[in-house]
Amino acid sequence: MQTQLSGGTGAAPPSAGSGTPFIRFQHVTKTFELPDRSVRAVEDVSLTISQGEFVVLVGPSGCGKSTLLNMTAGLFHPTSGAVFYNGKQVSGYNLNTGYMTQNDHLLPWRDVVGNVSTPLEIRGAGRGERRDRVAHLIELVGLQGFEKSYPSQLSGGMRKRTALARLLAYDPETLLLDEPFAALDAQLRLNMQIELLRISRSLKKTILFVTHDLDEAVALSDRAVVFTARPGRIRQITTTPLPRERNLAALRHDPEYTRMTAELWDLIMPTLQATRGEAS
Ligand code: ADP
Ligand code: MG
Repeated sequence: MQTQLSGGTGAAPPSAGSGTPFIRFQHVTKTFELPDRSVRAVEDVSLTISQGEFVVLVGPSGCGKSTLLNMTAGLFHPTSGAVFYNGKQVSGYNLNTGYMTQNDHLLPWRDVVGNVSTPLEIRGAGRGERRDRVAHLIELVGLQGFEKSYPSQLSGGMRKRTALARLLAYDPETLLLDEPFAALDAQLRLNMQIELLRISRSLKKTILFVTHDLDEAVALSDRAVVFTARPGRIRQITTTPLPRERNLAALRHDPEYTRMTAELWDLIMPTLQATRGEAS
């Protein structure tokens, strides 16, 4: 784990959604048909994301955030409207995305090294390359000493970190991250956030990131998209008033950060009251 506290180096920010459209939701509505009823998860979502942008989705449980990630990955398709990725409509699995779902889906019969190296094995990477890359990623997510542990022997946070290392081993163009740091303690979460920002800048990844944590939403994002309660519609898109080079450890002293966090709270509070008791 690196201990630097800045968000890393990086190019100038892609101006909020105004660069070349890279991911585009065009009037996307998704309704799930259940045996006894239909559930409209998201409704008329239109959103354009530029390459290299870090966009955070926030909103109450059940408003369709995971559904939007699923549609970007091509696991589900819209009931109406369309999702475009790099100019093409997403109609099958979108192999340019790497998806870290809310469940980590680690392979229980493989230890940490085995899980992280899986994508490299699938790609046919040689033994030496695999060993070096896996060791680097395990260090990056702070799991040294647990290389031989199996998922059942790991805490929730460790499992998440293993899943993140595996995702980075796959090295996708776009990262879809669904509440990846929710189970981590504060110090570890900060370290992971710093690393993720550094990766996003240095490797120019496009990131769609779901969180319940509004502080995290502001700290990481170029823009935050706030959704209404289900069916999720875009309530507001907020451009984060922070430089891309940010010192995450000192943000709480930054008045712009405090102001945007308060603004998100004011937007979210009414929707939370509307969805009390809903599971995520
Ligand atoms: P969020 O991630 O914002 O909490 P989700 O996208 O998981 O919300 O879910 C939005 C709504 O769609 C919820 O009511 C959920 O139960 C429903 N839903 C999501 N996936 C499915 C599915 N595969 N089948 C049926 N209903 C689903
Ligand atoms: Mg979800």
